[in-house]
Amino acid sequence: MAEETPNEKTEKTDLDEDIAMALVNHVISTPDDSGETDPRTKYPSEEFEPQTQDYPGWTEAMNPRPDHGEQSYVGHHRMMGMRTLITGGDSGIGRAVAIAYAREGADVAFTYLPEEEQDAEQTVQLIEDAGSRALALPGDLQDEEFCQEVIAQAVAEFDGLNVLVNNAGFQMTTSEGIEDLNSEQFDRTFKTNVYALFWLTKAALPHMKPGAAIINTSSIQGYHPSPSLIDYAATKAAINSMTFSLAEALGPKGIRVNAVAPGPVWTPLQPPTQPAEKIEKFGQDTPLGRAGQPAELAATYVLLATEESSYISGSVIGVTGGKHLA
Ligand code: NAD
Ligand code: MG
Repeated sequence: MAEETPNEKTEKTDLDEDIAMALVNHVISTPDDSGETDPRTKYPSEEFEPQTQDYPGWTEAMNPRPDHGEQSYVGHHRMMGMRTLITGGDSGIGRAVAIAYAREGADVAFTYLPEEEQDAEQTVQLIEDAGSRALALPGDLQDEEFCQEVIAQAVAEFDGLNVLVNNAGFQMTTSEGIEDLNSEQFDRTFKTNVYALFWLTKAALPHMKPGAAIINTSSIQGYHPSPSLIDYAATKAAINSMTFSLAEALGPKGIRVNAVAPGPVWTPLQPPTQPAEKIEKFGQDTPLGRAGQPAELAATYVLLATEESSYISGSVIGVTGGKHLA
C-alpha cells in the first residue's frame, strides 16, 4: 500500500472531521439516498403557534426556536483573518451570519440594543466557541455618534475592517396602513434602516482597503411593498438604491457593495411587530410553503464577503423561498 504523504494525511483528517461534524449535527433533515434534501421539508412547514412578544423580541421566547446553524454550519477556512462588523448580530439573521463568519475564521464585532443583552451574550459565546474574537457593542444606531463609535471600536479592537454587514432593522406593521402610521415611527424606521447604513458606511470607508466588502440587508418588501409596512418597505427600496449607487461609487476603489433580500424568515423581529394571527401563517404563502430559518441566509452572506464573489457588486440576492424579486 502506498504511504500517505504528511500533507495528504492532514487534508484527509480535516475532511473526515468536517464530514463527521456535519453528520452528527445534521439533525433537522437528512438527505435521501441521492444526497438531495427536500427544501419544503428541510424545516417544519406547519403553521406556527400564534405568539407575540414585546419589542425588540428575544430568541428564547420564540416557539419554535429559530435555527441559526448552531448545529449545522461547517466552516471551510474561507474568511481566515478577516475582520467583520455585523449590526444587529445578537439574534436572527445577524446571529446566523456571526456564527458562519466565526466558523470561517473571521473575527466578529456586532451591535445590539441594550435590552438584548441575553441574546448578545449567547452570540458572543458562539463566536468564541468557534475560536474567533468577539466584540459586542450595545447602543442605538439611530444616533450618528454611536454609529461612528461602533466603527472606531471595531477597527481599534481588530486593527482594521474587511467586511461591514448593515443588517439591523426596524419594522412595525400598521393595521390601517397610512392612517395609523405616525411621524415618530416613520422617523424611527428610516433612522434605523437607512440613516444608520449611511453613517456606518461613511465611517467605515476610510478603514476599508481594496478587497473589502459591504453587505446590506434588504427585503422582498423593497420590491413588493405591503400596505401594512409602508415605511419599512420604502426603507428597503432605499437600501436597494444605495446598494446600486455605492457599488458604482466604490468599485473604482476595489470595494464591493451588495445586498441580500430575505423573504419571510423566523426571527425575533416578527412576533413583536405583526398581529399574532399573521404569525400563524408566516411564510406559508411562499412557493416552498414555509418560513425560512436564519441559518438558510448565512451562506449568501459568506459568499458576498469572500473573494469567491470577486466580480459580484451592485447585486441584490434574494433568499425568499421562491418568491421573485423585481
Ligand atoms: P432580529 O430582530 O433578530 O434582528 C434585527 C436587529 O436589529 C435586532 O436584533 C436589533 O439588535 C437591531 N436593531 C433594531 N433597531 C436598532 C437600533 N435602533 N439600534 C441598534 N440596533 C437595532 O430580526 P431579523 O429578521 O434577523 O432582522 C435582520 C434584518 O433582516 C433586518 O434588516 C430586517 O429588516 C431584515 N429582514 C428580515 C426578514 C424576516 O422575515 N425576518 C425579512 C426581510 C428582511
Ligand atoms: Mg435581537
